[in-house]
Amino acid sequence: MNLFDVYPINPIPIVRAKGSAVWDTQGNEYLDLYGGHAVISIGHTHPHYVKRITDQLNQIGFYSNSIEIPLQRQLAEVLGRVSGKTDYQLFLCNSGAEANENALKLASFFNGRKRVIAFTGAFHGRTSLAVSATDNLKIVAPVNQTDHVTFLPFNDVEALEAAFAAYGDEVSSVIVEGIQGVGGIREASVEFLQSIRRLTDRHGALFIADSVQCGYGRTGAFYSHDYAGVSADIYSMAKGMGNGFPIGGIAISPQIKPWFGMLGTTFGGNHLACAAALAVLEVMQQEDLMRHASGVGSYLIEELRKFDRIMEVRGRGLMIGIELPSEFGTVKRDLLVKNRIFTGEAKPNVIRLLPALNVTRLQADRFLDALKERLAEF
Ligand code: PMP
Repeated sequence: MNLFDVYPINPIPIVRAKGSAVWDTQGNEYLDLYGGHAVISIGHTHPHYVKRITDQLNQIGFYSNSIEIPLQRQLAEVLGRVSGKTDYQLFLCNSGAEANENALKLASFFNGRKRVIAFTGAFHGRTSLAVSATDNLKIVAPVNQTDHVTFLPFNDVEALEAAFAAYGDEVSSVIVEGIQGVGGIREASVEFLQSIRRLTDRHGALFIADSVQCGYGRTGAFYSHDYAGVSADIYSMAKGMGNGFPIGGIAISPQIKPWFGMLGTTFGGNHLACAAALAVLEVMQQEDLMRHASGVGSYLIEELRKFDRIMEVRGRGLMIGIELPSEFGTVKRDLLVKNRIFTGEAKPNVIRLLPALNVTRLQADRFLDALKERLAEF
């Protein structure tokens, strides 16, 4: 059987990893500033993480949500504390798309409405409603097309006000990334997020903060929406949550009440996933990783802004977009081939940095030197 060929891949077989270093089968070392797409939060194979998952596997790896899983309560308790949302409720699932799917569905259960507002440049996942709220027609199958989702221009307060004035009482939820990732590292403005809060409150709609990529401490705040000084009704999360172990979740405000059977999943919140997520939060606290991410991130952004060939540097903390002129299209590839540095990208010409939150200043300098070298070739 062949693999279903949907991923354009780098033909580099990575077989070992530690922190922000990865090695191929030949023993070549690479610097990982991509973090497997913002997934590696506390660094590859962190010893506490490996031990906690290994110990858990030796106890019990899985049982269904039909029994009490004390680790889920522990996770909810720690997550509530670290995120500053102690009165929220946690529902666990397995991926970012699933988190958003549940968030949108929950909002609709809550207010009995159908219309969702999403924004240009948004990416919310590939399941049915999440993909309908994603601004990329190519990945929306005919069966996912729906009139329930309305796209408005990102960061346009006037357009948002006009939409709410016209049909605000039909809106079930507004879903927005604090910083658009796939959309090219574009931050939602404070005024925009505050307007979403004000308008959803006024019209009985819910504010869904997609924190799948920009959340979990990556920007220095637990949820990047926190910078606007407002709380959302539902936060979706995934990527950094399990440091590679598949787990996602939604944090749900206390006004939304559950009933048995309202949401559900077979694998969500299993013992191993909870152990992985607890290990991540423990390391984040022990190593003060949000503060570290903010420090190294600010340093990188400041240094990158000194490069005169770069058109724009966007982002916060360790979610950084480097916009290059179109003729610099080979830089990302050359960083990998010539400097052995993994980075991410956003079309058409943005290099995306999404490293582990404990990437070091020395590793940041290695990247800055490499980029200097690459840009000098033009
Ligand atoms: N939301 C955002 C903001 C994302 O960046 C992604 C993944 N790129 C998703 C949702 C979907 O997550 P997953 O791939 O885990 O389904």
